[in-house]
Amino acid sequence: MDFDAQDFSLVWFHAPQLPDLDVASSSLSSQILNQNADMDHFLHLQSSRLRIAIMEEEARQREITMQRCETRANALLLHKDQQIAAARDRKMELQRLLKSAELEAAAWERAARERESEVAELTKQLMEATSFCSSSSSTSVLKSCKVCHGGQSSVVLFPCRHICCCRSCEPLLDHCPLCQSLKEATLQVFI
Ligand SMILES: [Zn+2]
Ligand SMILES: [Zn+2]
Repeated sequence: MDFDAQDFSLVWFHAPQLPDLDVASSSLSSQILNQNADMDHFLHLQSSRLRIAIMEEEARQREITMQRCETRANALLLHKDQQIAAARDRKMELQRLLKSAELEAAAWERAARERESEVAELTKQLMEATSFCSSSSSTSVLKSCKVCHGGQSSVVLFPCRHICCCRSCEPLLDHCPLCQSLKEATLQVFI
């Protein structure tokens, strides 16, 4: 409701007509209330928009953070996968080395057993030879070197295991003078 100066003068002139003032006041109050309601509505709308904008920004920041975390987690997982693969390769290499070492140890053990049996057999033969020589009447013949016939037989030839030459003649021999076997190794003995 418009309220200009003329209306006011009329109102002022007819002062007793107080109800018009009440009407104007009521209209003004109504306008103020309406404006307040509009302002409240506007503020409420702005508040809602601001709240939505904040929520959207928070969601966007959350998404960015999640992406960063995901990227970092993927990098860590890849690094761990590489470490696991390297450890697996290392384990396989160690298992291969262990198996090789076990095979080598078994071969050495087998060779040691063979050497022990050879030593036992040689010891037995030496004891038999010593016993026979000590009881034989032809000791000097048995002990004499089959090469020079002057020195004492004191070297065992391998692999035939004959004791048939002296220490001086042994280096000159490629074969056993008794059985003609190829000399592969020798052992000095004391009879
Ligand atoms: Zn000799
Ligand atoms: Zn021989």
